[in-house]
Amino acid sequence: MLLLHICCGPCALYPLEQLKQRGYPVKGLFYNPNIHPYLEFKARIQALETVSKREKVEILWVKDYGLEFFLEETLFQWEKPKRCERCYYMRLKKTVEVALELRAEAFSTTLLQSPFQFHELIKEIGEELEDRYKITFFYEDWRRGYKEGKAKAMELGVYRQKYCGCLFSEKERYLPHRKEKIY
Ligand code: SF4
Repeated sequence: MLLLHICCGPCALYPLEQLKQRGYPVKGLFYNPNIHPYLEFKARIQALETVSKREKVEILWVKDYGLEFFLEETLFQWEKPKRCERCYYMRLKKTVEVALELRAEAFSTTLLQSPFQFHELIKEIGEELEDRYKITFFYEDWRRGYKEGKAKAMELGVYRQKYCGCLFSEKERYLPHRKEKIY
């Protein structure tokens, strides 16, 4: 079994389809303390519930709202990419811990599907965890399926978020030239 960390419903569609085509048994893990504020967190859970029913994939849910934990984990590292590095590490480490508990053969993440993430950083962290915990990191550059996944999400009417997840990214959404605009 492969344990797939899932960041959100729309990003899960293409990786799930690819893994299904290859015949891999998959379980999903929703663990995202980085998603804020609370109503956004709930909206993304709902979107993944829709996707998981449609794709008939079992999801392990961590539905506790992790604002404080996320802020502690990223303390004073609020600039990109350092903040994102910590955010990826936090989520992938938890995925590995759950994968080991479940005796899964491999782990991966739907973060590999987004062209807006630091793809190489995610790959490096996955490989580092693979070495340290002796569990296979399934890597594939799923960014090629980004448009396909997006179109499918639209077709299904699944909620598509407007920013990555944390409060910082929500701010950055409105401030494309933030250095000039903030002060
Ligand atoms: S921008 Fe996204 S990846 Fe980076 S810290 Fe925020 S939620 Fe995490």
